[in-house]
Amino acid sequence: MKPENFDGAPFEALDFDSASVHDVVVVGSGPAGLTAALYAARSNLKPLVFQGPEPGGQLITTTDVENYPGFPDGVLGPEMMQKFEAQASRFGADLQYGVVTSVDLSERPFKLIVDEEKPIRTRSLIVATGASARYLGLENEKRLLGRGVSACATCDGAFFRDVDIAVVGGGDTAMEEALFLTRFGSRVFVIHRRDELRASQIMQDRARANEKITFIWNTVVTDVLGENDVEGLALENRETGEKSTLPVGGFFVAIGHSPNTDVFRGWLDMDENGYVITKADSTHCNIEGVFVSGDAQDHVYRQAVTAAGTGCMAAIDAERWLAEEESRATAPALSAEESR
Ligand code: NDP
Repeated sequence: MKPENFDGAPFEALDFDSASVHDVVVVGSGPAGLTAALYAARSNLKPLVFQGPEPGGQLITTTDVENYPGFPDGVLGPEMMQKFEAQASRFGADLQYGVVTSVDLSERPFKLIVDEEKPIRTRSLIVATGASARYLGLENEKRLLGRGVSACATCDGAFFRDVDIAVVGGGDTAMEEALFLTRFGSRVFVIHRRDELRASQIMQDRARANEKITFIWNTVVTDVLGENDVEGLALENRETGEKSTLPVGGFFVAIGHSPNTDVFRGWLDMDENGYVITKADSTHCNIEGVFVSGDAQDHVYRQAVTAAGTGCMAAIDAERWLAEEESRATAPALSAEESR
C-alpha cells in the first residue's frame, strides 16, 4: 500500500523498466552500511552501496576512536572508515556516490531514485542511513559552524585550549561533552533549558563533581555572537525572562540526534522521533525485504561497534530472506494431493 504522502510523479517520469534489478542495495556508508556491504559481498550478492550525503558517516568527523575493538592504540575515525570501505570493496561491493532521494516500496522489486534522476530497482534493501546531530536552528549557529560552533567535542575540543566553553543540553551527550571539554577549556558552562538533567545519574554526578563545570539552569540560547568566530552567547532565563550575555570562545551543541530516515517516512514504521522500528532480535521491519540497521533504528547504544553489528545482521537477514524467496519462486507447485 502506498502511503498518503507518496508522490508518484518522479517515478512516472523515469524509465524503471530498463534499470537492471539488484539483489541488495545498501543505503548509507557508516559502520552499519559498510559492514552490511562486506557481508553481502562475501555472500556473493554484489551489493550496490549509495554512500549518502556524508560518505563514511559520523565517524568521518571524529578524531581518535579508542573503543572500537581490534585497535588497541586507537584509530582516527576517517582512517577507520577508509579501512571499512577497502574491506567491503575487496569482496566486490560497488560503492557509489549518491543520495537516495525517493523510494517506492509498494511492490518488489523496490524502486529507488538516486540524486533525483537515477532509477534503481532492487529485490532487497538495507537501510543504514544513520543519524545526524541536532542543532538549535539559530541563523548565527549555522554561520559560525566550524568557527567555534560544533556538535562534536571529541573532534573539535582541542581547538579550545584555555578558553571558556559552553555546552547546551541536559542529556548524557551534554555531560559527556562537558566532561571531555574540561581537559581543554578553562571553564565549561552547561546551559540547560530546565532545572533538572535528563542525563543518567552517574553522568550527572561526574559532571556536578567537576570543578571546571558550571550549570546555568532554566536558560535557553537565543543567539550566537561573534563576527568571524564565536565570541559569546545571548541567553534568556525561561523563568524570569532575564536576558544576559555569556562570553565564550567555543559553543558545543549536544541536544540529541535525529535519524536520517525522512526518505522512508510513510513507508517504514517509525517511533515519534523517526527511528525505524525493527522486529525483536532482527533487522526486519514492517516491509518484507527491507532491513534496517545502525543509528537509523538505534537510539540507545549508538556506537560504531553496535552499528557494525546490526549491519552484519541486516546482510545475513537479507541473504536468508532472498534465498527463501528464491526457493519459494522455484519450488514446483504442489498438486492438490501432495498439499493435503
Ligand atoms: P537526549 O535526548 O537524551 O538529551 C537531549 C538534551 O537536549 C535534553 O536534556 C533536552 O532537554 C535538550 N534539548 C533538546 N532539544 C533542545 C533545544 N531545542 N534546546 C535546548 N535543549 C534541548 O540526547 P543525548 O544525545 O544526550 O542522548 C541520547 C541517548 O544516548 C540517550 O539514551 C543517552 O543515554 C545515550 N548516551 C549515553 C552515553 C553514555 O552512557 N556514556 C553518552 C551519550 C549518549 P530536556 O531534558 O528538557 O528535554
